[in-house]
Amino acid sequence: MVAAKGLILKDGARVAIIGGGPAGSFFSIFASRLAQDLGKSLDVTIYERKTFDKQGAAGCNMCAGVISESLVQSLALEGINLPSSVVQSGIDSYYFHTLNGSIQIKSSRLQQRGIATIFRGGGPLGSHKNAIQSFDEFLLQKSVEDGVTVKHIMVDDINLEGDKPMLYSGGKILQDCDLLVGAFGIKANTAKNFEKLGIGYKIPSTIKATQSEIELGSDWITKRFGHSIHIFLLRIPGVKFVSVIPKGNFITISLLAKEPNINYIKDFLGHPVMKKMLPPGFKAPEKFCHCFPRINISAAKKPFANRLVFIGDASSARLYKDGIGSAYITSKAAVHTALLQGVGEEDFKKHYLPVCKTLNRDNIFGQFLFFLNDLISCVSPLSKSHFKMIQWEQNCLQKDSHYSDILWDMFTGSRFYKDVFLRTLNPWPIIHHWVQLLHLP
Ligand SMILES: Cc1cc2nc3c(=O)[nH]c(=O)nc-3n(C[C@H](O)[C@H](O)[C@H](O)COP(=O)(O)OP(=O)(O)OC[C@H]3O[C@@H](n4cnc5c(N)ncnc54)[C@H](O)[C@@H]3O)c2cc1C
Repeated sequence: MVAAKGLILKDGARVAIIGGGPAGSFFSIFASRLAQDLGKSLDVTIYERKTFDKQGAAGCNMCAGVISESLVQSLALEGINLPSSVVQSGIDSYYFHTLNGSIQIKSSRLQQRGIATIFRGGGPLGSHKNAIQSFDEFLLQKSVEDGVTVKHIMVDDINLEGDKPMLYSGGKILQDCDLLVGAFGIKANTAKNFEKLGIGYKIPSTIKATQSEIELGSDWITKRFGHSIHIFLLRIPGVKFVSVIPKGNFITISLLAKEPNINYIKDFLGHPVMKKMLPPGFKAPEKFCHCFPRINISAAKKPFANRLVFIGDASSARLYKDGIGSAYITSKAAVHTALLQGVGEEDFKKHYLPVCKTLNRDNIFGQFLFFLNDLISCVSPLSKSHFKMIQWEQNCLQKDSHYSDILWDMFTGSRFYKDVFLRTLNPWPIIHHWVQLLHLP
């Protein structure tokens, strides 16, 4: 395919988006609004195979459901305020549970419960019907309010006809596109349709996580888990880390291990550290809502071509953190390029690719930080002294909690990994820590 010049979206241009997850919805909302500001009308259609009011995996985009503080704020600035029917819990702190003990970390910056927890679908299997409003459904509704058409159809083939992408479902033509947006996440089958076009696109590599929803009742969850996300670094063989997220009547357990396996969840629920968090006599139910979703761990190759751009997980996402925030960043950058510069390959290369590259480069620092965290967790003397230092910071130095803030920013994803990494190189806090200890009576 030759990189064309001067391809722009004219008045009435047809924009199709494959995928109505966060990336697809964000793109449609920002594109509709910017087009309106520019005095253009766009015909925007989202194709989404799922409906998000169903319970369990069928209606869910399977994730831990933590909306970072920075994304909650960015959405509020866009006039997208998450309603209480969507937000299951407001988070103000993290708990780290290690074999040396448990410690609560509050950021010196976070003033209120600025992090939100949500369900992506209609709630876990067995939850009270209609009690939960899906985050993805809420965003799709926002798109519709901005004039976007949502069709619950699976796109199963894509072709390039003339200079325009053409979409198909069940052998029938759906539409041709002046711009086609790939917001299909990391669904291998859909990605294959793009890879076979010969435009140079290649889906990011992935690993599978293990995730489950356990019902404990909201009273117990408030009492025992509070408004905190709980991270468990317990050296369970094969398990990298476990996070537990309070959401109304349920806790979501997300676990990263060597391979996906529901037995890890059962082992974790039986671990003495976790047992203390569960109601007396708790027994893991025979059946509970669980899934093995894929996590994006690298960048897509060439996430653009003439009249084609890939966003969200299908393009670049931050390592292990804030994938929905990455969907926001990439969709915004793609909209600005498409509407203010053009929809040719050269336009995306010049104006969209640098944003993806910034995320990709930052993930190199993220990889190093997670490696360091694994190392500290595995080496007992290191993890003991690290634990003590954080404990000391939380007890005495609320406004100068250097290492607590590093841990906070790394696990919440509220700062870029590069920024966190550079702060780990600063020797002063550790010197200051030892000087203070020497002066203690
Ligand atoms: C275990 C786990 C925990 C996570 N926790 C968090 C977290 O706490 N916070 C956070 O910010 N991120 C988290 N993430 C990452 C987050 O889920 C993703 O980054 C985010 O969902 C990406 O959004 P997206 O819109 O690009 O893709 P998706 O959310 O995957 O949406 C893609 C959509 O495209 C649709 N689709 C695909 N192919 C087709 C087709 N051919 N036709 C029609 N529709 C199609 C799918 O049905 C889907 O709805 C987590 C991920 C995992 C796996």
